[in-house]
Amino acid sequence: MKVLVINCGSSSLKYQLIDSDSEQVLAKGLCERIGIDGRLTHRPAGKDKVEIEAPMANHTEAVSLVLKHLTDPEVGVIGSLAEIGAVGHRIVHGGEKFAASTVLNDEVIAEIEKVSDLAPLHNPANLIGIRACQELMPGVPMVGVFDTAFHQTMPEKAFLYGLPYEYYEKYGVRRYGFHGTSHSFVSKRVAEILGKDIKDLKTIVCHLGNGASICAVQGGKSVDTSMGFTPLEGLVMGTRSGDLDPAILEYVAGKEHKDLSAMESVLNKKSGVAGVSGVSSDFRDLGKAAEEGNHRAEVALEMFAYRVAKYVGSYAAAMNGVDVIAFTAGIGENDISMRARVLAYLGFLGVTVDPEKNNVRGEERVISTDDSRVLAMVVPTNEELAICRETVALVK
Ligand code: ADP
Repeated sequence: MKVLVINCGSSSLKYQLIDSDSEQVLAKGLCERIGIDGRLTHRPAGKDKVEIEAPMANHTEAVSLVLKHLTDPEVGVIGSLAEIGAVGHRIVHGGEKFAASTVLNDEVIAEIEKVSDLAPLHNPANLIGIRACQELMPGVPMVGVFDTAFHQTMPEKAFLYGLPYEYYEKYGVRRYGFHGTSHSFVSKRVAEILGKDIKDLKTIVCHLGNGASICAVQGGKSVDTSMGFTPLEGLVMGTRSGDLDPAILEYVAGKEHKDLSAMESVLNKKSGVAGVSGVSSDFRDLGKAAEEGNHRAEVALEMFAYRVAKYVGSYAAAMNGVDVIAFTAGIGENDISMRARVLAYLGFLGVTVDPEKNNVRGEERVISTDDSRVLAMVVPTNEELAICRETVALVK
């Protein structure tokens, strides 16, 4: 079956057309600046990529343009839309309602609308993408795959905050966690690579990208994760602060004459390694600056590694042990020196990095020494493939 995977942002739309039998990507691409002016990058497998400026007033026009390119006689990869057997939509927030992927129907869409309050920047965009596809591909089955679903197995002790309980009851204030599709995919892949039953494994997945989170996976289930009510909690990220003393908010807001929403914007967009270093949110820029002697860039990198290591240590405690520490996403897959920095803190767990094995980018590999009691691995994530698999499993 050919599955179209759609990931809608407020002004962007990423897509992949995947043949679910061979799991090959037939085409992928990105619509940007939707509602502003519009740009499409379309990459058909085995053909030249197409980059065009094309007006896209809304997401329906963007989806329409994508479908036109997928079926185009020259740059297309399928003869007609009838070849698309199903559509898988990435949805950021499923609240407590969705603990698994779900076939999208009117009732489910109404439920997703209800939880949009919890992700006001993301869910409305996801819903627009769903409606655009319904309009242009009526009758094609669609599945919603939620970033939060995998973490619905967390116990109360992990998902509740130390706040008045009524905030949980009345407003749903709790840890939800994100990147669930990736944490699930990587933890499963770890078991496959090692030839072990996932039920017997305690794995800590470090999804280190621009947004970054860590997940403790015990017996295939998420038991704790570092992102919380929103993706702001946890690690120091590219531009997000991660954990901090909440009292800082009022203190700085007073000094800088900012309101709460302006402060939240600072925490999301101007903080993290970018805020500390004043250089960049990109770890390649930070590495270069640190090598050239920029102290703040060096501190930002070490802070990042230190926070990751502290979370790994705490999740080893949460699971009363750990078998595998897996690195994934942009930094986890590619930043050799960051992996070494993180693992340098974790010798006490019985893991030692092998510099030669660690000298790898974007490849599945064990990177710890043969005598390590805990394995360290690089396992590239593939959220689109995971969405494709979930979609096929539900529509077949
Ligand atoms: P997201 O999906 O959250 O936008 P990614 O998982 O694509 O993020 O990760 C992007 C980040 O990965 C970049 O900001 C950069 O910091 C880092 N990165 C990518 N390639 C490298 C590399 N070769 N070396 C170091 N860091 C890298």
